[in-house]
Amino acid sequence: MNEIVKGKVKTVHSTDDPDQVLIEYHDKVTAGNGKKVSYPEGKGAVCCAISELFFKYIERKAGFLTHFIDRPSPNTMLCKKLTIIPVEVIVRNIAAGSIVRNTLLPEGMEFDPPLVEFNLKDDEKDDPLLTSDRVSLMGYDPVILARRASQLNCHFKKVFGEIGLTVVDFKFECGHASDGGLYLADEISPDSFRLWKDGKSYDKDLFRKDKGDIVEAYTKILSDLQGVI
Ligand code: 5GP
Repeated sequence: MNEIVKGKVKTVHSTDDPDQVLIEYHDKVTAGNGKKVSYPEGKGAVCCAISELFFKYIERKAGFLTHFIDRPSPNTMLCKKLTIIPVEVIVRNIAAGSIVRNTLLPEGMEFDPPLVEFNLKDDEKDDPLLTSDRVSLMGYDPVILARRASQLNCHFKKVFGEIGLTVVDFKFECGHASDGGLYLADEISPDSFRLWKDGKSYDKDLFRKDKGDIVEAYTKILSDLQGVI
C-alpha cells in the first residue's frame, strides 16, 4: 500500500485494485490552512463514521454517486479512485467565517436563496474565491456543481435539523471516476460544516476559536445522527 496523497488530516493510499483507494482519517485537526494543529484522540474515527453515514444516506436519498465503498476499520474508508475537481464548492445559508471577514455582511445574516461559491482547491494559494466564469474556463461546469450544492443543502438541512442543528455553511468536493461519472468525494463531517444550536457551534469553529472539545461534540453528533439516518 503506497501513499498517493498526504492531505492535512487524511492520507490517500493505493490498494491492489487500481480503481480503489484507501483513505485514512487521522487523529488530527487543522485550521488557518494548517497554521493551527492539534491531534485529538478519536477524531479520525468519528469523522470517518459520520462520513460513512452521510455518503450512504446521500446515495440512497439523493441518488448521487459517492466515492464510498466500505469502512474496513474505524478510521479508514475504501473509496472509488477519482480525479478530484480542484474546486471546493461552498454553500452558505447564514453569513459566518470568510464571507464576514471579506465583505461588509454581518455575521448571522440569512441568505435566501442560499449562496453557492467556488474556491480553488490550492492550499499554497490559500484557496482563493473563483467566479463561475473562471470555473467554466478551467473546464468545469459551475451549473452542475451549483445544482448538486442546492440538492445537498436540502438533505443536510433536513438531517441536521432533525437533530436540532442549523446548517450555517459547508464545503464539498467532487471528482470523476474512470467510468466518467461525477462522484461526491472527500469527507462529509463537521470539519467541513458550520453547525449552530442556541448560539453555540458544533463544528471545527470549536477548535478554530478554542471554544470546546471537537471530539466530544462530533461524537454526540454521530450518536444523534444514528438515531435519524
Ligand atoms: P469559510 O469560507 O467561511 O472559511 O468556510 C465556509 C465553510 O466551508 C465552512 O463550513 C468551512 O468549514 C468549510 N471549508 C472551507 N474551506 C475548507 C477546507 O479547506 N477544508 C474543510 N474541511 N472545510 C472547509
